[in-house]
Amino acid sequence: MEIIGIFGGTFNPIHNGHLALAHTVLETLHCTQIRFIPAALPPHKTTPTVSAQHRAAMVQLAIQGHANFVLDTCELERYGASYTVETLLHQRQQFPDAALCLMMGQDSYQKLPTWHRWLELLDYCHLVVVHRAESEHNLTLHTAHQGKFIDMTKAPNAFAAAHNGLISFLPITPPDISSTRMRAQLRHADDIVHNEIPPQVLHFIQENLLYQS
Ligand code: ATP
Repeated sequence: MEIIGIFGGTFNPIHNGHLALAHTVLETLHCTQIRFIPAALPPHKTTPTVSAQHRAAMVQLAIQGHANFVLDTCELERYGASYTVETLLHQRQQFPDAALCLMMGQDSYQKLPTWHRWLELLDYCHLVVVHRAESEHNLTLHTAHQGKFIDMTKAPNAFAAAHNGLISFLPITPPDISSTRMRAQLRHADDIVHNEIPPQVLHFIQENLLYQS
C-alpha cells in the first residue's frame, strides 16, 4: 500500500531540523510523498507573530526542488484552531486507500495527551516519532498506545500493510535546531543561522523583515 507522510507544524520558521525529519521518514518508510501542513492557529502555542501565509510561503521555498515534498494549506482554509484530528479526517477523505503516517518529534509525542481528541488519531493514521536532541533516548509509550508499537528493524513493512493504528520510533536524531532558537537569533541579526535554515528561507525572512522584534 502507498504510504503518505503527514507533517504538521507551526514552521515558525521552517528549519533544517524539520527537513531532516522529513527526509528520514521519507526514506525509512518509503513514503510516496510528505505533506507539510502549517498550522493556522496552533492550539498549544501563543499565536505566532508571523502570519500563516508567510509561514506557508517559507515552507514552499524550503521544499522547492524536492519532488516528494508537498505544501498542503488545508489548515489555513479552516476557521478556528488547527486540530490535527480534523486535518487527518480531511486527509483520510482525500486519500482513502493509502496508509497515512503522522510524523512528529519526541517532544510532541510526550505532549500528545493534551491534544484535542488525541485518542482518535490512530483511527486515521499511523504515528512515527523521531528522537529529538534534548529528549530521552527511549520512547515512553502512553498507556493507551501499549500493544500498538512496531519495531521497524524487525517489521519494516508493517506500516504498508495497514491504513492506520500503529506506532514506531526512529532513533535517529535530526540536527538540534528549534524555531524558538531561530527566532531569537534572527532578532539579533549578527548571529549566524546560515547552516540551520535553507538560504532561500533566510532571504525571504530578510526581505520581508520578519522576526525583527
Ligand atoms: P518551536 O521551537 O517554536 O516550539 P519547533 O522547532 O519545535 O518550534 P514545530 O514547527 O513546532 O517546530 O515542529 C513541528 C514538528 O517537528 C514537531 O513534532 C517537532 O517535534 C518536530 N521537530 C522540529 N524540529 C525538530 C528537530 N530538530 N528534531 C526533531 N524533531 C523536530
